[in-house]
Amino acid sequence: MESKKTCDSCGDSSCSAKNQQQNESKEEYADRRRLQARLCRIQHKIVVLSGKGGVGKSTVAVNLATALALNGLRVGLLDVDIHGPSVPTMLGLEGASLSGTPGELLPVEFGGLKVMSIGFLLHNPDDAVIWRGPMKMGVIKQFLTDVNWGDLDYLIVDAPPGTGDEPLSLCQLIQPLDGAVIVTTPQKVAAVDVRKSISFCRQVNVPVLGVVENMSGFVCPKCGEVTQILPEGGGRKIAADMSVPFLGAIPMDPGIAQSGDSGKVFIYHSSESPTGKILQDIIDQILDSNKEQKLNA
Ligand code: ADP
Repeated sequence: MESKKTCDSCGDSSCSAKNQQQNESKEEYADRRRLQARLCRIQHKIVVLSGKGGVGKSTVAVNLATALALNGLRVGLLDVDIHGPSVPTMLGLEGASLSGTPGELLPVEFGGLKVMSIGFLLHNPDDAVIWRGPMKMGVIKQFLTDVNWGDLDYLIVDAPPGTGDEPLSLCQLIQPLDGAVIVTTPQKVAAVDVRKSISFCRQVNVPVLGVVENMSGFVCPKCGEVTQILPEGGGRKIAADMSVPFLGAIPMDPGIAQSGDSGKVFIYHSSESPTGKILQDIIDQILDSNKEQKLNA
C-alpha cells in the first residue's frame, strides 16, 4: 500500500524543505514543499545525460528503466527531453493520453513501469515544441511537481541533451540525485561533449555513475564481424582521463533501432542476444556504481 507521507507529517528536521528560505515567496516555498513531498517517496533517482542529441540517451534510459521493472522494482521513467521526446515511441505509447487533474497528473502505466513524457502533452507527435527558456524551465518544474508517482524504488530521468539551462534546472530540482549516466558515441567530436557533461555534473554536485559509449562498432548480423564505422574509444578514453567509471560499449545493432521504432523494448525482447547481454552488463554496473556511491556518501 502506498504511504501518504506529506511534508507536514514528516519528522525529518534536517530536510531543506522544512523552512522557508530568505528571498523565497510563500508560493515558491509551497511549490518547493510539494516537490520535496513527491521526491521523498522515490528512493533512487538517476538521470541519463548526453552532450548532444541522437547518441542513444533515450535508448539507455528506456532499457535501464525496463530492466529494473522486470526485476520487480517499482520504477518511474520521466522523459523531459523537451525537443525530442522519444520515450512514447520506444514504448509503443504514442497517442496515450494523460489522466488525473491539473496539479495531480497520473503517469501512464506500462508493464509495471510508470511513464511520463513531454510527448504526452503534444497533441500531434509532429508538433515542434517552440518554447522560450523560462517556459521550458517552468514545464520541467511543473512536471516534477505535478506528477503523482506514488512510492517508487527508482525514477529514471531522460534529460534534455547538453549542459544548458534545462538539464541544469533538472539537476537542481531533483534533490538529492543518486547520480548521472552519461551516454556518448565513440568519435572525438561527440566525446568532447562528454567532458563538458562530466564537468557539469561536478559543478552541480551530481555523482557520475559512469559513461556509456553507444554505437561503438557495427556487428554484422550475418558473420558477426565488427566494423568500426565511427572512430572508436572516445568515451572510454575520456572516462579514464576524468577518473569516472566506463560502463561499457554498445555496438550499433539494427535490432536496437528496430525495437525503438516498433515500441518493443530491446532488453525485454532480445536479452539473450550478444548486444542484450552487453546492455544488461551495463545496467548491472550502473546499479553497482549507484550502491557504491551511496556507501561512500
Ligand atoms: P537520444 O536520446 O540521445 O537523442 P535515441 O536513444 O533517441 O538518442 O537514439 C537515436 C536513434 O538511434 C534511435 O532511433 C535509436 O533507436 C537508435 N539507436 C540508439 N542506439 C542504437 C544502437 N546501439 N544501435 C542501433 N540503433 C541505435
